Amino acid sequence: MRPDYDLSVGAKRLENVAPSLIRTVLDRAAALRAAGEPVISFSAGEPDFDTPDDIRAATARALERGLTKYTSNRGYEPLRRALAGYIERETGVSYKPETEILVTCGAAEALNNVILAFVDEGDEVVIPQPSFVTYRRLTDLCGARAVDLPLDPANGFQPELDRLKAVITDRTKLLILNNPGNPTGAVLRREILEELCRLCVERNVLVLADEIYSRLVYDGAAFRSAASFPGMRERSVIVSGFSKTFAMTGWRLGYLAAPEPLAERILRVHQYSTTCAPTFLQAGVAEGMDTERTQRQVAEMLRAFARRRALVMERLDAVPGLSYVKPYGAFYIMVDVSALGMSGMDFSARLLEEKYVATVPAVGLGEPTGNYVRLSYAASEENIEEGMRRIGAFVRELGG
Ligand code: PLP
Repeated sequence: MRPDYDLSVGAKRLENVAPSLIRTVLDRAAALRAAGEPVISFSAGEPDFDTPDDIRAATARALERGLTKYTSNRGYEPLRRALAGYIERETGVSYKPETEILVTCGAAEALNNVILAFVDEGDEVVIPQPSFVTYRRLTDLCGARAVDLPLDPANGFQPELDRLKAVITDRTKLLILNNPGNPTGAVLRREILEELCRLCVERNVLVLADEIYSRLVYDGAAFRSAASFPGMRERSVIVSGFSKTFAMTGWRLGYLAAPEPLAERILRVHQYSTTCAPTFLQAGVAEGMDTERTQRQVAEMLRAFARRRALVMERLDAVPGLSYVKPYGAFYIMVDVSALGMSGMDFSARLLEEKYVATVPAVGLGEPTGNYVRLSYAASEENIEEGMRRIGAFVRELGG
């Protein structure tokens, strides 16, 4: 480069990619904690449970056995076979382990690969708002146009067909459907999902179905995979992972399932970026993910999330000035703070500084929910009790 070029400027494609607000909250909470403050975190989408015993033990054995070499780019073959069975049980859709399943470093890598593999500069990507912020940033990174599909809190954050019709154009390459949703906690109703899928078939749109919370559903809500609707298997990529259901955030293991022609494209991105996910982790998960003990431990975690959800709602009901959209899935609840005359951003910032409770202002997750904060109830019941007590005190003091 020319001698006066500033090497730290970086690529132009990053100019439109804002840093993550969630990270900012997490970093501030960590700084307060490091300073000795008793921070309670309702901000991270991270289960506080231990990874199931059989998965840990099998991984330790895999390491001892020396499974420390590369696997196939697609992933460790026994894990792909285990995943094919697991995905079929979850979604009712079957995928060939040889060519249609890919093991990735977290669902995050899968999202990155799918968007890089299919989205060109100038394409449009329809993203429900509010949603997991990564979708928007990856779209920006590709130089594509992120098109909002606004979700209405009054409608339980269910996407609406007419709104989708209004934003789909001939340039729409991809629709992202996150079900159950982060941050909304919404589980898409069958008839709604069916209509959306029918439109995607009609308008020839690819669907990235981020179904990482598929097993976290409550109160009789039923999860259905987008890929299970007529005409959808061939135009869907299911993205999921172990982080949430199996309490394995730090393992960085995820996966995707797609029909062979799509999987082949995605494989190319994966192959040249991460090569493969860590071998002994894949081997441990392959051996431990379906054992009876793992199934029991996962079921216990899911029951604990259901109790926590009930507890958070009960405590919120007792705080005048706060309302929420009842969640049926994942482990998030969207709380409306507008009756306090504050934005979600102000509420979240002051609550953290004054009461050491970390939440995420929903504005960081996409408009038009600037009056909301997201609470994650992936926290112990004890922390939920204490955090909600502090939130109650904070709101009372605002009123006084
Ligand atoms: N998709 C959604 C909707 C998420 O909320 C998250 C994590 O918060 C991810 C994907 C990424 O998960 P992983 O830890 O598997 O990368």
